Amino acid sequence: MDFKLDRNHLLQQELYRKFAETEIKPLAKEMDENEAYDMGLLEKMQKYGFFGIPYSQDYGGAGSDTLAYTLCMEEVSKIDASSGITISVHTSLCCSGIEEFGTEEQKQKFLRPLVDGSKIGCFGLTEPGAGSDVAGAQTVAVKDGEDWVITGSKIFTTNSGFADTCLLFAVTDRNVPAAKGMTAFVIDLKNTPGIEISDNIERMGIRAASNCIVSYDNVRVSSDRVIGKVGGGFKIAMNCLDKGRIGIAAQAVGIAQGALNEAIKYAKERKQFGKPIVSFQNSQFMCARMQTKIDAARLMTWRAAVAKDNHETFGPYAAAAKLMAAEVAVEVTRFAVQLMGGYGFCREYPVERMYRDAKITEIYEGTNEVMEMVIAGSMKLR
Ligand SMILES: Cc1cc2nc3c(=O)[nH]c(=O)nc-3n(C[C@H](O)[C@H](O)[C@H](O)COP(=O)(O)OP(=O)(O)OC[C@H]3O[C@@H](n4cnc5c(N)ncnc54)[C@H](O)[C@@H]3O)c2cc1C
Repeated sequence: MDFKLDRNHLLQQELYRKFAETEIKPLAKEMDENEAYDMGLLEKMQKYGFFGIPYSQDYGGAGSDTLAYTLCMEEVSKIDASSGITISVHTSLCCSGIEEFGTEEQKQKFLRPLVDGSKIGCFGLTEPGAGSDVAGAQTVAVKDGEDWVITGSKIFTTNSGFADTCLLFAVTDRNVPAAKGMTAFVIDLKNTPGIEISDNIERMGIRAASNCIVSYDNVRVSSDRVIGKVGGGFKIAMNCLDKGRIGIAAQAVGIAQGALNEAIKYAKERKQFGKPIVSFQNSQFMCARMQTKIDAARLMTWRAAVAKDNHETFGPYAAAAKLMAAEVAVEVTRFAVQLMGGYGFCREYPVERMYRDAKITEIYEGTNEVMEMVIAGSMKLR
């Protein structure tokens, strides 16, 4: 067992850190205030290979691994969680489903442009009436000759405001349990008639990320757009979410570490009672607790990433890492604001944004309660 990153991963971590500091940091506040992602920054991240980290070079990816992807997610999210989720939904939800379940032809056609940085992906699973209860989905796909005709509505589809490709889930057979009656489709979002994308949903946090309602009105797609087997969609969705949770855990670790770093910097400069506030034992103990919890969450995230890279069972590790890291992110950002007093509450400093951004990590890709269900399910308690 080795808890240190090897040279290759350290180099990648350094590269992501430098990029986040120099390219993302100057834009993060403005993007949050404008509630819009900077398309120039998106293009830069595509050019630098941020959208294909764990994918094979055979498909135009960076040929790295899940651990490197978590390092990217942490470094980027330390500075801006909206950038983190933009990368994460594309990488672990959209691309991973096509990579694991797509045919060679589908991978060449859809995965290649996604991982080589030409196109952006999204993931359409959640519906207005079906969130935690994925099986309650109402979007249907009906067979018509050789085609499928899709009708329904997906909510909270991250990246959908600018994405090219969507991994979409629709009910194809109502006569069997939903777990066997759902099918995954790969959709060309920009060139398929019948698709309508709403304006951005106004949110508390990760406000720069694109997040819209996507409506499908008799959207006709050919059979070669089915990913995996007809009826295999539920399994694909769960598989993608298992992988996605590693990315969200890393995002939460990044938000927490970013907030702590900012709070420490401030506490060294701010003087009260004639001393820097960092010299008070209370501040030091607060920092010690925050760093300890972040380290624990990071190690759990790496455990899940390494298990996945070693082709071991990783789903329960991913759920545990996400649960832990999300709770840590919410707690640490709250303490970071506290450590900075009134200034922490002001928009001038990034911890205010980080506090708002942290909350979503307890909700998306499965709420904390859903993570508890996944972990309990793996413990053979019954
Ligand atoms: C900003 C944002 C981005 C998102 N991005 C995407 C995306 O790209 N693609 C996508 O498909 N989805 C996306 N989502 C959807 C997200 O995954 C869901 O919001 C999440 O799974 C929770 O579903 P819900 O909001 O419908 O809440 P609900 O399922 O209605 O849950 C509400 C509350 O009830 C609790 N609850 C529900 N069922 C149970 C139970 N059985 N036992 C105990 N407690 C329970 C939940 O834990 C929660 O506290 C996004 C959401 C947001 C807000």
